[in-house]
Amino acid sequence: MAKLEIHQFPTRGDNYGVLIHDPVTEATASIDAPDADEVLAALHEKGWVLTHILVTHHHSDHTAGNKALKHKTGCTIIGPALEARSIPGIDVKVAEGDTVDIGETRATVIETPGHTKGHVSYYFPKDGIVFVGDTLFSVGCGKLLEGDAPTMWSSLEKLMILPRDTQVYCGHEYTNANCRFALTIEPENDALQARAAEVAKLAERGAPSLPSTIGQELDTNPFLRPASPDIRTRLDMEGSAPAEVFAEIRRRKDRF
Ligand code: ZN
Ligand code: FE
Repeated sequence: MAKLEIHQFPTRGDNYGVLIHDPVTEATASIDAPDADEVLAALHEKGWVLTHILVTHHHSDHTAGNKALKHKTGCTIIGPALEARSIPGIDVKVAEGDTVDIGETRATVIETPGHTKGHVSYYFPKDGIVFVGDTLFSVGCGKLLEGDAPTMWSSLEKLMILPRDTQVYCGHEYTNANCRFALTIEPENDALQARAAEVAKLAERGAPSLPSTIGQELDTNPFLRPASPDIRTRLDMEGSAPAEVFAEIRRRKDRF
């Protein structure tokens, strides 16, 4: 099995498009389809032909390009069964534990609801890569639009147990703003301070802060750190369950 090639590109302002390409079979998947023209331009730049779209959730900034891309390339659209009715052009409906083959490389579907009720992430264990859509952001997490805090916390817990060196690709570039909020929750976290400084520099020259890694997020992302004694003390929640601490951090971010 050859290593997946990956091409990430900014699109629609703060979204990311990502193409993955199996060099042996030439299979190429777009993670979500924020904008058909921009995905086609990225494919053209790489000289790749689209064979699949892996949809994380139904929001239009992740599915707007589905129909045009399917029309132009005949690609197969794979997405969460629970949101099938709101995903244009869906061919294959997937749920927890299903596998998806992109050429010779295989993804496992992890259901990560909370941002939307059927949101899924795609984990490529052999390549050590996970595509998390709008569930996990670097130093942040998705808004709870169709799920409650316990639901989102369970989803994040599934991502937290992946190997630390797993590369994390997210749906949006929000890291710089996320760091400003995170520093109000855990100001003494050295790893977070270092990440905030790094990301501020990247943002200055418009460079991406992604992919991140699971290990980096475990060390810096307040939404993954309800166990941190410093956070618990600051929030006055020493005796609370992790899901409750997570919920409070999410509430504070919504008001930030
Ligand atoms: Zn979304
Ligand atoms: Fe989004």
